[in-house]
Amino acid sequence: MTCQPRKEDRKPSSDISLTVLSTSGKSSGKSPPMSHMGWKRATILLVVQGLIIAHIVQYAIMGETVGPFEPSEGMKTLKDGVITVGFLFFAALLLSTAILGRWFCGWGCHIVMLQDFCGWLMKKAGIRPHAFRSRLLLYMPLCLAVYMFIWPLFYRVAIAPWTIPDLPTPTLTFEMTVTNFWATFPGVLMAIPFLFVCGFMTVYLLGSKGYCTYGCPYGGFFAPLDELAPARIRVTDACDQCGHCTAVCTSNVEVHREVHDFGMVVNQGCMKCMDCVSACPKEALYFGFGVPAFLAKPRVEPKVDAKWDMSMREEIALAVVALAAFFAVRGMISLPLLFASGVAACAVFLAWKSWAMLSTPAVRFHRFQLKLAGRMHASGWIFASTTAIVLGALVYVGALNAAVVFAERASEGVRTPAEVVFSGSPVTPNETEIAAAQRALALYAYALPAPVGIGFTGPWTLGVESRMSYLRCVLGDYEGAELMLRAAASREGLTEAVATGIGQTMKGRARLDLASAWGVEQCAQHPEWEGFADSTSLWLTEEGNRDGAVALIRRTLEQNPTSLALMRRLSLLLCESGDDTLRAEGIRVIDHTLTIEPLNPFAFVARARAYRDAQDFVQAEADFRRAAELAPENGMVLDSLGQFLMSIDKVREAAGILKQAGEIRLRETAAR
Ligand code: SF4
Ligand code: SF4
Ligand code: SF4
Repeated sequence: MTCQPRKEDRKPSSDISLTVLSTSGKSSGKSPPMSHMGWKRATILLVVQGLIIAHIVQYAIMGETVGPFEPSEGMKTLKDGVITVGFLFFAALLLSTAILGRWFCGWGCHIVMLQDFCGWLMKKAGIRPHAFRSRLLLYMPLCLAVYMFIWPLFYRVAIAPWTIPDLPTPTLTFEMTVTNFWATFPGVLMAIPFLFVCGFMTVYLLGSKGYCTYGCPYGGFFAPLDELAPARIRVTDACDQCGHCTAVCTSNVEVHREVHDFGMVVNQGCMKCMDCVSACPKEALYFGFGVPAFLAKPRVEPKVDAKWDMSMREEIALAVVALAAFFAVRGMISLPLLFASGVAACAVFLAWKSWAMLSTPAVRFHRFQLKLAGRMHASGWIFASTTAIVLGALVYVGALNAAVVFAERASEGVRTPAEVVFSGSPVTPNETEIAAAQRALALYAYALPAPVGIGFTGPWTLGVESRMSYLRCVLGDYEGAELMLRAAASREGLTEAVATGIGQTMKGRARLDLASAWGVEQCAQHPEWEGFADSTSLWLTEEGNRDGAVALIRRTLEQNPTSLALMRRLSLLLCESGDDTLRAEGIRVIDHTLTIEPLNPFAFVARARAYRDAQDFVQAEADFRRAAELAPENGMVLDSLGQFLMSIDKVREAAGILKQAGEIRLRETAAR
């Protein structure tokens, strides 16, 4: 076997015509080529679905399971340093793709199964998926991959350390099992339109692997790695250029041309589905190892055909449409990234066809003649109306998103810290801040449903209302803010965040008594709200009811015995009680938190203070020093150590540390 085409057959590639498929994509009349791989692939893809279902059933029964085998889980690893099963799975896929090519796309992905199913249905209905060919939008998956995976990593490593004070040093942790399996998945209401758009509409509009070609961020990694893979579809001398392989390929690869020119398939879109191998009547194709695509040299001078659907100018305009559509549904509405990319790809196609209807005399879409001899047909009007509705909806949503983005920008001008806003005796903001808050409020209002704004109610509405209620508090309108939150709660049910917001508006207008009573009442009804119990304990303490705060945290901790946040709060309340017995209990609680989180510098500071108050200066010094070792760049930690050393007359060392702490704090303030 050799992987090169016979020399005598090597005509320039543009001279190659297919005997089974004309360039229009219509059958030449000969019997269509058949692949016997389809059912094998379908069986394997169904087995994969069966394994996914088994995984879900096991979780439903046991309440805990191995983390989802979902590449998007890798985002958590890159952002927070949590190594997940999804990350390891994705890493293994990338590694194997660099050796075997895009095998996972052909044999393991549920979206490809859906696309294949849609393609099969369309075939049954007599519709042949027609590939949309754009050279610029081909980069969309790569851009999405960078946006989804590379940018968060770059931000975490190169930007955040300079812009976020007190950013904890990244540490790697493992999360192999989960008790909240669905936490990172969109709900069923989102899954159905997602599958419809990304599985069906992309195939109908963009071709049989439309979503893979233009919308999938994972493809953005798989495609370039495929270039490196030594395992590829290769050809022997038996090839007679009949073209069956190209006709059967649903990834829009010109197989006959590539094997003629290179002796192998070099296209990054090849998913190693083996349909071409199976359909080749000469058994000339095989899957084997050899030179990778990026080192492949053409055997003949390939003549580049004009195979793109658009001019470069149109491509640039449509790339702008793609970006606008993507961010229109990503911002406030916050569609999952994979869904948003599918919507953007479909919007691009609709915009392109509509532009073609405006600028050319004849336009077809599948079997529909939309326009002929400059005259629009009924199907053309229907297509144009559908496009207008879809693009109009995207523009409308994009405008709402823009209002929210500008509102967020404007609210950056509000500098009064939340502690001051909710202190009960707030400082009146200066004129600039008042103007910024008013402008932000006016812009946010656009995103609210009528009659206040021009938006509509959705999962994002509560977020907008929360931000507006905060700005109202900044302007001193605590009652208005509370009313807004209560209206949101009566519409959507009371959430922990809204309950906290309501309590804060009460505290802000110097009604700690109301805030505490509200907190205790809601904690009784929602013992699972750890954060809310924490806030309520602060309100109670500030009101002078430390015993009430301790009792509340103890009750909530009984319901949430593994909550570190509650343990920390309880230890602080006990250690600051002034009572030796309670302080000793507080130290025991901190000891317990340190068995769970042994490198937490703040726990050491808390325990050091408790020892200091108990006059155990030796232990206190050891803990303050340990905290400084763990967080040598934290101003508060260094300041605590310096103050303590000063108090025990280690003046010279204390002065150096306090100077260092002061410099760090100055830097932190400047960064803020
Ligand atoms: S490109 Fe994405 S959607 Fe397509 S098969 Fe590969 S992983 Fe699945
Ligand atoms: S590889 Fe097989 S199917 Fe493809 S052109 Fe050659 S002989 Fe025909
Ligand atoms: S070139 Fe062959 S193996 Fe690759 S996607 Fe097309 S039919 Fe499948």
